[in-house]
Amino acid sequence: MIQYHNRNKQLENRKQGVKASNNAKKYYDKIRKQHHQIACQRKDFLQQTTTYLCKTYAHIKIESLNVKGMMANHKLAASIADLGMYEFKRQLTYKAEWYTNRIDVIDQWYPSSKKCSNCGHKKEKLSLSDRLYVCDECGFEIDRDLNASINLEQAPESVIVEKIGWVTSELTSVDSIKSS
Ligand SMILES: [Zn+2]
Repeated sequence: MIQYHNRNKQLENRKQGVKASNNAKKYYDKIRKQHHQIACQRKDFLQQTTTYLCKTYAHIKIESLNVKGMMANHKLAASIADLGMYEFKRQLTYKAEWYTNRIDVIDQWYPSSKKCSNCGHKKEKLSLSDRLYVCDECGFEIDRDLNASINLEQAPESVIVEKIGWVTSELTSVDSIKSS
C-alpha cells in the first residue's frame, strides 16, 4: 500500500544528489504520524484492558506462553510481537498488586486448547485454523478460545507454575509493598 501510493514521489538519493520532493516529505510525515497514532492506541488498549481485567475479576488465570518458541515460528512471530504479550503480562502483574488480584500462571504444556472442557478427552491434533472445537469423543461443539478458557478456569493446582499478587488470604502482598 505504502509503496503503491508512493510510486510517483521523488525520494531523496544522496549519492545522486537528488532531494526528496515536497510531496514525498509530506507523505512520509503523514505516515510517521499514523504510525505514532497506532502505537499510542495500542498502548492505550493494553492499559485499559489490563486495568479492566484487574478491576473486574478478583482471580485471573493466564497461560505461560512459550513466547520464544512461538517467535521461532515466523508465521506467528509478527502477530505475537504486535500483541505485546510480554507487556500484557507485565501490566497485569503490577496491577494485580495495586488492585489486590490473584493471578495464576498455568503451565504452557497444559493442554488447554486440545482438551474437551465437557468430557476431558484430549485431541491428538488441533490446528490453529480450527476456530471451533469439536470433540471426537462426546461431540461437544464450542468456540476454541472459550473451550481453552474454561479449561484454564478448571485447571488443577498441579499445573500452576507461578502465583502473582494476592496469593494468600494473609496480607503478605500489601505488607511486602509497604515494607519495601
Ligand atoms: Zn468431549
